Amino acid sequence: MSNPSILILPGDGIGPEVMAEVRKIISWYGDNRGLAFDVSEDLVGGAAYDAHGTPLHDDTMTKAQEVDAVLLGAVGGPKYDNLDFSVKPERGLLRLRKEMDLFANLRPAQCFDALADFSSLKKDVVAGLDIMIVRELTSGIYFGEPRGIFEEGNERVGINTQRYTESEIERVARSAFELARRRGNKVCSMEKANVMESGILWREVVQKVHDEEYADVELSHMYADAGAMQLCRWPKQFDVIVTDNLFGDLLSDAAAMLTGSLGMLPSASLGAPMANGRPKALYEPVHGSAPDIAGEGKANPIACVLSFAMALRYSFDQGAEADRLEQAVEKVLADGVRTADLLGEEGVTPVSTSEMGDAIIAALNASL
Ligand code: NAD
Repeated sequence: MSNPSILILPGDGIGPEVMAEVRKIISWYGDNRGLAFDVSEDLVGGAAYDAHGTPLHDDTMTKAQEVDAVLLGAVGGPKYDNLDFSVKPERGLLRLRKEMDLFANLRPAQCFDALADFSSLKKDVVAGLDIMIVRELTSGIYFGEPRGIFEEGNERVGINTQRYTESEIERVARSAFELARRRGNKVCSMEKANVMESGILWREVVQKVHDEEYADVELSHMYADAGAMQLCRWPKQFDVIVTDNLFGDLLSDAAAMLTGSLGMLPSASLGAPMANGRPKALYEPVHGSAPDIAGEGKANPIACVLSFAMALRYSFDQGAEADRLEQAVEKVLADGVRTADLLGEEGVTPVSTSEMGDAIIAALNASL
């Protein structure tokens, strides 16, 4: 059987710097755990525009459709700010998401004990936090028709439409239940069924998918505004939260910031299962290309490393190896190793991007 395949798209700014550390870790798994991957690399964003005049070449798009998982660094930068909208670096990323039909966006909020002081919440509220927000990504109010700004009488009216079909709700609900089975086996679905018909349908369909296919998973429902309050009050009550595009946009940003630095946040976007049963998948850090520190060796590679841990868990069925990698990151942080973005304590000298990668490799070696 051939090795699982990964397409690496480092992108722009700090993207290539953080991805270099992930490549070390991918090699480590081949050398030490018998987990060899077929890795290919290509251009996206500004780097692709510089080479081909487009932020995503058709050949790259084809490769992305064929591999088991895509790992992306970050795209964008001031050099490209004045390009036409149609060839801006972000269009490359949007095209990947759209053509791979990545409808479930997974944003974990995980708080490593060593960084609990970085949160704006009390330490005991966030220490050990490990929740996952599943946001529907390809439908809802950001896409529904009619939309636009129209003349009505003697003034203008702005219109967006929240629209969900049963099948769109069903597929993202399935993603959430599948994830829950690999985690704490609990799903909380959030909508506004008290004031929105789309929320009533959302609740009904999620409940039906649960009763017919996932009765072993614990399911609860919450209005999204109450959910926002509960996320700040006692986030550890949640395991997996599933919600629509708009509420997910807000709730995932709020939840992510419970845990501190942007340099720590991974994400995944999943689509329908391919012929081999694996979901189409794109893994990427939440942060951007950080042009203010690009090329200086200051970037924190942990968000990108944890994105690879998600790939191990959700694309390659290697939950135990994903745990190993997350525990290696936890150990490095507990040992006080910090990139510049994580400095809080007095007298700590920051390590470089590659020194952080090396420290994670050392912790992986120690785990054997
Ligand atoms: P950004 O995430 O790039 O940076 C925000 C701040 O966080 C900066 O001070 C940066 O130095 C810091 N930061 C980000 N990641 C870090 C890391 N790994 N380690 C240490 N510090 C880190 O957001 P921005 O400045 O608003 O955007 C910069 C560029 O990135 C823009 O062109 C934007 O369009 C693009 N962007 C791309 C993505 C993506 O590729 N998914 C996401 C957001 C922004």
